Amino acid sequence: MRILVTGGAGFIGSALVRRLIEHTDHEVLVFDKLTYAGVLSSLAPVADSDRYRFVQADICDAEAVAQALAEFQPQVVAHLAAESHVDRSIDGPGAFVQTNLVGTFVMLNQALGYWRGLSDADKAAFRFHHISTDEVFGSLGDEGFFTETTPYDPRSPYSASKAGSDHLVRAWGHTYGLPVLVTNCSNNYGPYHFPEKLIPLIIIRALNGEPLPVYGDGSNVRDWLFVDDHARALQAVFERGAPGETYNVGGNAERKNIEVVQAICAILDEVQPRGDGKPYAEQITYVTDRPGHDQRYAIDASRIRDDLGWTPSVTFEEGIGRTVRWYLENREWWGDILEARYATERLGVNG
Ligand code: NAD
Repeated sequence: MRILVTGGAGFIGSALVRRLIEHTDHEVLVFDKLTYAGVLSSLAPVADSDRYRFVQADICDAEAVAQALAEFQPQVVAHLAAESHVDRSIDGPGAFVQTNLVGTFVMLNQALGYWRGLSDADKAAFRFHHISTDEVFGSLGDEGFFTETTPYDPRSPYSASKAGSDHLVRAWGHTYGLPVLVTNCSNNYGPYHFPEKLIPLIIIRALNGEPLPVYGDGSNVRDWLFVDDHARALQAVFERGAPGETYNVGGNAERKNIEVVQAICAILDEVQPRGDGKPYAEQITYVTDRPGHDQRYAIDASRIRDDLGWTPSVTFEEGIGRTVRWYLENREWWGDILEARYATERLGVNG
């Protein structure tokens, strides 16, 4: 198949593209604006493949989208391009409305025009797969899980913009017949994760001997999914998912933020002990909470398990170990980012 991946230079997009090139025969066109979060070196492992192509363009640019669709003739659009960081959405929500809402609208409208020009057989085979988040469902107490029918209750500018884009996608399916798929996934982690997010931030700041900021009392709970498992889930959904369907994707790995930070510290104590022999956990500092910080997210992923046979394959313990080791072995990847783009400072407090 030919698969157009928007946001393919980002964290999850690049994991998907590496998987598709390395483990399938699919052809891939990455369509990415290369914002601060787009990192071409994340695609270096597949850049030489003749089944991989890249175009630098904005999903809000209708002409560029139309041209990419017309030239590449994809059977699948995997739409991952987005502004993705909650803290940045607090400081500057405008970019989130623009890219996540307007950009998704442009993608849908251009995909619809392209789809209408296909033969009946190609129309039936086409999929517009929108990659979204569990944050659209709001916040849970100690009990319960998000299912595909949980009512939407987004609370941050990021999750509100993703919720709106999910609604647009379903509307294009319902109203115009575009064969759409939506996946709502929990927190991803793994190699090539941009240093602004909790896990890479903690690893990098620990190694740099800096304080490890934990928001509030560290009791907020997230469900963590190893990014390669997410990429495998996305492939299962666009290859075999039922058009019009939504699938929740989760890792079955709920952890409090403080537990995540302590796990990273414990691994580093073992594989890269501090020069002074003291534990990395000494660097933990509790900082003012994120405004509107959701308490708990948890996913019921039984539909994708029952319908498509997907389950997470990497436990949190295994995945976090692999991730810490990857950051130790790939200092150049994140060193370049720290130098040129983002130096691990606190975000989300200037809203
Ligand atoms: P990311 O921030 O790492 O990457 C986003 C990519 O999109 C970057 O390569 C960036 O250059 C590109 N992009 C941004 N604006 C663009 C535009 N206007 N036009 C073209 N390209 C643009 O994000 P990620 O963590 O890889 O997330 C990918 C998708 O998955 C997002 O839609 C996000 O909402 C969703 N998601 C993420 C998580 C997570 O834990 N990271 C969980 C569930 C869902």
